[in-house]
Amino acid sequence: MKRLAVLTSGGDAPGMNAAIRAIVRASVYYNAEIYGVYRGYKGLMEGELVHMDAASVGDIVHKGGTILKSARSKAFKTEEGRSKAVEQLNAFGIDGLVVIGGDGSFMGAEKLNELGFPTIALPGTIDNDLNYTDYSIGFDTAVNTVLEAVTKIRDTSTSHEKATIIEVMGRNCGDIALHAGVSGGAESIIIPEEPVDTAEVIAKLRKGQKQGKEHQIIMLAEGANQAQLLQNELLERAEVNARVSVLGFIQRGGDPTGRDRILASKMGVRAVEMLLNGVSNHAVGIRHDKLYEIPIADALKEEKQLDEEMYKLTQILSI
Ligand code: ADP
Repeated sequence: MKRLAVLTSGGDAPGMNAAIRAIVRASVYYNAEIYGVYRGYKGLMEGELVHMDAASVGDIVHKGGTILKSARSKAFKTEEGRSKAVEQLNAFGIDGLVVIGGDGSFMGAEKLNELGFPTIALPGTIDNDLNYTDYSIGFDTAVNTVLEAVTKIRDTSTSHEKATIIEVMGRNCGDIALHAGVSGGAESIIIPEEPVDTAEVIAKLRKGQKQGKEHQIIMLAEGANQAQLLQNELLERAEVNARVSVLGFIQRGGDPTGRDRILASKMGVRAVEMLLNGVSNHAVGIRHDKLYEIPIADALKEEKQLDEEMYKLTQILSI
């Protein structure tokens, strides 16, 4: 009987639990044993492995965060740390590991494969900054969380007839801002992939004022600028007194959307099937609504492609 393990690492994301559930249940379905590793690579090095069964993952598909906890580990970045991790995996008799996390976690997974340990990586990050996949687990929930905030901010901005800069997460990726901006009806969307001159933002604000808009929303990706800097610039250059709302970590929490749960479920089952079929050193991604497998090294090399169609929407809809 094969014995597999799963861990969540780096920044947590809603839907990680649905992925853990899928991995555990698929392992049981295919007659494999499954262990959960607590606290990512840190827990792996320290041997925090626990046997799981179908019941261990009951009642978690709808919950944000990760029941296995997540962590960051500097020690795992050293050869010594990684050999400790492999020693633990061998001591527990594990044959294959699924890592759910962002690009840092993927690098760690690749290193485990280099040491000869079969590992599969699943994209778990709200940032959607793993370019090989159209969507990562957690992204859809984060967009919806931002949308809820936009709706609330709209109410108060309308009352005060003010412009609001909403700064959202995503590191160097503007996807949360782009998707939440389009679906939330933002007047301006500022993302790192498509730098916008502040003069353009000011022109939009002026135009909106002339059109009698009661409020305006500027959706700003954290990788493009800081909300406070933009606020100062708008005040100095155009005497626009905009409000600032930096959404922060609320974007990491919350119940995963149906879409994230489905993505996580599909990817989790696929990861188990891959390991049981002898596939390792691959990541699972989704392109044009179909799951696919790609070597982790290639997944990490993929360059960001701006969704031109989506970006064009921002131009058309915010006139
Ligand atoms: P995320 O996976 O969300 O991008 P991090 O970048 O913090 O989060 O990565 C998570 C963990 O992955 C790190 O704490 C570290 O243990 C491991 N890791 C990151 N980069 C590397 C690397 N180059 N080699 C080995 N392990 C790495």
